[in-house]
Amino acid sequence: MITVEHLSKKFDELEVLYDLSITIPAHQVVAVIGPSGSGKSTFLRCLNGLEILTEGKITVGQHTIEANMNKKELKQMIYGIRQETGMVFQQFNLYPHKTVIENVMESLIVVKKLKKEEAQVRAERLLDKVGLLEKLDNYPSQLSGGQQQRVAIARALAMEPQLMLFDEPTSALDPELVGDVLRVMKNLAEDGMTMVIVTHEMNFARDVADRIVFMADGRIVEDSQDPKAFFTKPTTERAQQFIRKVN
Ligand code: ADP
Ligand code: MG
Repeated sequence: MITVEHLSKKFDELEVLYDLSITIPAHQVVAVIGPSGSGKSTFLRCLNGLEILTEGKITVGQHTIEANMNKKELKQMIYGIRQETGMVFQQFNLYPHKTVIENVMESLIVVKKLKKEEAQVRAERLLDKVGLLEKLDNYPSQLSGGQQQRVAIARALAMEPQLMLFDEPTSALDPELVGDVLRVMKNLAEDGMTMVIVTHEMNFARDVADRIVFMADGRIVEDSQDPKAFFTKPTTERAQQFIRKVN
């Protein structure tokens, strides 16, 4: 589903990602963890073309972006990747003047060109999936942060993505609201969605992810396909330090 080859990223002179390579098969749930500033968000943003690569190559599905591609080609490829990728951020960025269901219907009408009635049926199904069917006529400001984030997930799912990227989706939430969002993500994982999740929720990472990617200083320091073993006994000193700190 995803192949990253020798990805490097600089912001001017600042090197943020160093020669990252990783392959993620379809249906895998990958938790990306690591200290603040280690490049996790930048890595995720490179995956769907929100950041331009300095060096290397990324393939998502049938689409490949390369550092030295011309603008026109790059634009086409990024468009292709975005069609197949849903992204959920820490901040939910819902349209404040649209209702919950209108937020979910928007892309169905504008991008997928569905008729209003059809879009409505599909949006209702998605809101049901995230447990918010009864809120469909509310405005985002009338919802809790956790509910808004679940609407953002439903909105991302509306495009029927092959891949979902999450960047600390629960970090802005009050602790009591985190569980509902994680439950929705767990259901998605159980449905077989391919997911890359940057998270501070270590219990969630251990229990739900198939794989833990530990990043530090712009590098993948540890890549474990056995989350329980990783959290019990990481192999690198750097990861051991990190685990001690967060526990
Ligand atoms: P993480 O998500 O792991 O906390 P980030 O990917 O956000 O890390 O950031 C990695 C490094 O890149 C940090 O030093 C950050 O300051 C820097 N950085 C991120 N985005 C930008 C940007 N748009 N311009 C300049 N520096 C950036
Ligand atoms: Mg980040």
